[in-house]
Amino acid sequence: MLKGKTAIVTGSTSGIGLGIALTLARQGAKVMLNGFGDSAGPLAEVRALGAEAAYHGADMSKPAEIEDLIRQCEATLGGPDIIVNNAGIQHVANVENFPVERWDAIIAINLSSAFHTMRLSLDGMKKRGWGRIVNIASAHGLVASAGKSAYVAAKHGIVGLTKAAALECATSGVTVNAICPGWVLTPLVQKQIDARAAAGGIPLEQAQRELLAEKQPSLRFTTPEQLAELTVFLCSPAADNVLGVAWAVDGGWTAQ
Ligand code: NAD
Repeated sequence: MLKGKTAIVTGSTSGIGLGIALTLARQGAKVMLNGFGDSAGPLAEVRALGAEAAYHGADMSKPAEIEDLIRQCEATLGGPDIIVNNAGIQHVANVENFPVERWDAIIAINLSSAFHTMRLSLDGMKKRGWGRIVNIASAHGLVASAGKSAYVAAKHGIVGLTKAAALECATSGVTVNAICPGWVLTPLVQKQIDARAAAGGIPLEQAQRELLAEKQPSLRFTTPEQLAELTVFLCSPAADNVLGVAWAVDGGWTAQ
């Protein structure tokens, strides 16, 4: 379905981003990977699906590196026609104890990076008459939790950014939407399960059960593959008129 399209997935060396990159590749898209840590493994996995792929190690907190990512994509793979703004980090602390450097990093990576990728690519998408921006927000883009002020602020921010950009693109063939996952069992959440187990002196399985029970009525994790399939839908012709939504995939978290 996505043959001839080029997708950038930020933060795609792990977790949700990697799942989305693999699914877009299966749909025939060329994929530009990004993120920290091992890039050779994810690149080989995407190429094994027969997809054309490349990797750029831009630090998504740095506007100049984001610009280089977009320009390298244009030069090597074409497009970008699809951008999945997924890179994200978490830090848990009360406001009065929140390290200023962590606040700045979360706002830069989880929010401002999406502004920069859009700022640098919407003109080309509009000129070509087709484009898809999918912003990976969070249930925390719709409701808050204590201890997550920077993350909640950034995720509410990206939901607002999604709506504003969607309106600006409304007649152009470009759509901008957000996906709001609840708990997904990735390294980002495993760290929170580990911290809960350590703080309570409880086994990891119990910490995992408690984490789900606190917020997610389905008591099941959403999978990266489920989020990837929704991304494919948002890239499909059926979603041509879906603009500025913040689509929860959260086992009922935000229905409460
Ligand atoms: P993860 O830690 O598995 O993956 C994060 C990715 O972002 C990695 O590839 C990492 O290298 C990359 N990254 C981090 N900082 C970066 C930077 N400065 N520059 C470039 N890349 C960077 O986490 P995940 O759970 O897959 O999270 C992906 C997105 O989904 C995040 O935006 C997160 O907020 C969101 N999300 C996750 C959950 C969940 O339960 N896991 C729920 C809701 C939303």
